[in-house]
Amino acid sequence: MDRETLDVLAFAAHPDDVELFAGGTVALLVSQGYRVGIVDLTRGELGSRGSVEAREREASAAAGILGIHARVNLGFPDGDIANTPERRIEVVRQIRRHRPRILLVPAPDCRHPDHPAAARLVTDAVFPAGLVKVRTTLDGRPQDPWRPHHVLHYMQSIPFEPTLVVDVTPVWDTRMRALRAFSSQVHDPTYEASPEEPETFISHPAFVDWIEARSRTWGYRIGATYGEPFLYRHGPIGVDDLVRSLERDIRVR
Ligand SMILES: [Zn+2]
Repeated sequence: MDRETLDVLAFAAHPDDVELFAGGTVALLVSQGYRVGIVDLTRGELGSRGSVEAREREASAAAGILGIHARVNLGFPDGDIANTPERRIEVVRQIRRHRPRILLVPAPDCRHPDHPAAARLVTDAVFPAGLVKVRTTLDGRPQDPWRPHHVLHYMQSIPFEPTLVVDVTPVWDTRMRALRAFSSQVHDPTYEASPEEPETFISHPAFVDWIEARSRTWGYRIGATYGEPFLYRHGPIGVDDLVRSLERDIRVR
């Protein structure tokens, strides 16, 4: 296996999106021995708090806590994740570089327009990534086509009825440490905000409580303490062995 090959690649509009909304799943996958990476599309330079440099440091610390195998930032402009042919090719390049079987992508709807824009851009790159005649290079070398097998949207601020919920109970502490690594973004009593840095949706102290409450809500639905919800929109999920596939189904009724 190539050193850069990953099992799962998670995309984010901003550095912290994956940690805020799918960090438990990433931590769990790593703990299960899978190779996982994160691609942040922007540096989050429009964020009301912190700085690009601070977020870079926080993203790197969070990557260390999660134990992921790769983290890339494509440096697209924050607030303008336009779905252009050039940007799609950049995403194709990352998909072909890491050859993931599963993509985790942002929510299809959200209060922040960058999130659905990022979801659309990445999902629109999945098909061309598998086309032989869409030619790309990385570091001057031609890349082979690769189309991920599955795309799952993680839930952000607008809820959906999930297709599946991942039991993230075993990694809950790691998941929360990775989230709290973004101390300029989420509530941290030791962070000294300047007067120009307003309170935001995610820096309000209740945000972290909401993340925990939400995880408990979805966890309860599957008989776990904490769960992370995902939406699968690209057709039915195939099953070989119905009994084994539903073995984990101990949902509370
Ligand atoms: Zn974001």
